[in-house]
Amino acid sequence: MSDRKLLLITFDYELFLGDKSGSVRDCLILPTDRLIDILDMQGIKSYFFVDTVYLNRLKEVSNDHPSARRDLEEITTQLIRVVKSGHEIHPHIHSHWNDAIYDSENNDWSLKNKRYYSFASLPGELRNNFFGQSLDIIRSILERAGSVQAVDSYRAGGWTIQPFENFRPLFIQHGIKHEWSVMPGKYQISDAHSFDFRNAPSQYPVYRFDRDPCRIDEKGPFKEWTISSLTMNRYEKWLDFKISGLLHRMGKRPAFKGNTVSSVILEQGDSQSEGGHRRQMASFEGLNPFTIKKYISAIKKSGYFHFISHPKMLSKFEFLMVIKFLKKLNRKFEIKTDFRNS
Ligand SMILES: [Zn+2]
Repeated sequence: MSDRKLLLITFDYELFLGDKSGSVRDCLILPTDRLIDILDMQGIKSYFFVDTVYLNRLKEVSNDHPSARRDLEEITTQLIRVVKSGHEIHPHIHSHWNDAIYDSENNDWSLKNKRYYSFASLPGELRNNFFGQSLDIIRSILERAGSVQAVDSYRAGGWTIQPFENFRPLFIQHGIKHEWSVMPGKYQISDAHSFDFRNAPSQYPVYRFDRDPCRIDEKGPFKEWTISSLTMNRYEKWLDFKISGLLHRMGKRPAFKGNTVSSVILEQGDSQSEGGHRRQMASFEGLNPFTIKKYISAIKKSGYFHFISHPKMLSKFEFLMVIKFLKKLNRKFEIKTDFRNS
């Protein structure tokens, strides 16, 4: 077997999405600057899915609030740096930003209102507006960075890519050809949003589709780049949990920065976890010496691995682990990180 691996390193560039969004400096600027330094040092290209409806709301309030204006300037400058360093930016829509309330005193947001958490719950007109505006925002940043990168990829906020009929005409109209939201086997139904990827194929990590991102259609106009997972048995899961607890007590876990969205989960699971085995989303979050080993052996067996992480979630310790992990990967394998030349 060849040691050539396609490694997709992706980030959701966003604040927290609950009743306290956290600050731009702590959730975006500082961790993303650190990430770019690390990725550039290791020669790794990555993909940032930018919470575009948030940027639109930020722009709105920045007319009246200097601290919001500064945030917007810092974000724009950072994303230009991201692009100039050779990484890609694409839209990521969390539509409940529509109802977010700006707290000017603390320069923070509350996203308590979840009626539009799911893209499907938006009125048709808002769906069109949000999608079009998102593409405009990404394109204007690319233009300022002097980049000719195609804006042809999308990851749904909260993985709410279903029903796909809401997206299909927008994908076609705006030239989106690549979809990055499906983790085969996973499903969740909550009072805020739902996704169900139980029918997605498990044998092919990348496939073409047309009307349903969980169904292969070789003539389909879109390509699905599925999210990878790490499988652990009961003992490994326990060990990882213990290591996490230890790191937490040593103060090496992320400090509080904001609140995640609170929702009532009605049903969730994973059709590909059997017996004592459990799968977790491939991510830099929670990376430790034990999971690094597990990832290396999983990547050894597979020619494709797709990670999702959030800059806001990463701790100092995890950054050190990311460096260690990427160095190891570069030593052991021939890593390809550009999905366009794969
Ligand atoms: Zn997100």
